[in-house]
Amino acid sequence: MKTFAEFPNLRVHDHPLIAHKLSLMRDQDTTTIMFRLLLKEIATLMGFEITRDLPLTTRAIETPVAPMQAPVIDERRPSIISILRAGLGMAEGLHSLIPEACEGHIGLYRDHETKRPVQYYCKLPDKAARPFILVDPMLATGHSAAAAVELVKRHGVGDVDIRLMVLVAAPEGVRVMLEQHPRVAIHAAALDSHLNENAYIVPGLGDAGDRLFGTK
Ligand code: URA
Repeated sequence: MKTFAEFPNLRVHDHPLIAHKLSLMRDQDTTTIMFRLLLKEIATLMGFEITRDLPLTTRAIETPVAPMQAPVIDERRPSIISILRAGLGMAEGLHSLIPEACEGHIGLYRDHETKRPVQYYCKLPDKAARPFILVDPMLATGHSAAAAVELVKRHGVGDVDIRLMVLVAAPEGVRVMLEQHPRVAIHAAALDSHLNENAYIVPGLGDAGDRLFGTK
């Protein structure tokens, strides 16, 4: 896991399998089918680390040899929150790892004049189902992610119980999150160079939603 002095809120999952699969996703010749599969795979691999501190309890079981107190995940279920629409592709991978997780959805669009995110949909699980893991493949300007975290906080979830999982982060977005939600941990597969004039991440992978759903 890579950490950064400049961005104490960021952890980059630099596992070779994640780096390899991300490179395949970045390639503009990668098909929609492969893109979707790879996104799910990376989300599953990242989920392994993100869930490292899930609370455990024990349950009495009998193995064929002896009784034991066996470790099991605490009854309290985590929540996976997709930031629509590209977040849906990451949620799929995470859900395959934690099938009992609750799911929520946040829809935001960018107002053309103010350039700020406006909420059009928000349905969240009970705040007790924590941690809340917010998923969105691209952390670009950071405004949507910061607005989504704000909604979750207003729902009653403390910032230490909120995690943001992205595929590719831009320094600009990480900085916005650090300013607005410094205690929310960001997990990324890569930290890229910068945003271009259209707010696309460079080198990035293009429009994650279009590539995931084949809408371009
Ligand atoms: N959203 C995307 O899908 N791609 C980017 O590069 C930036 C925002």
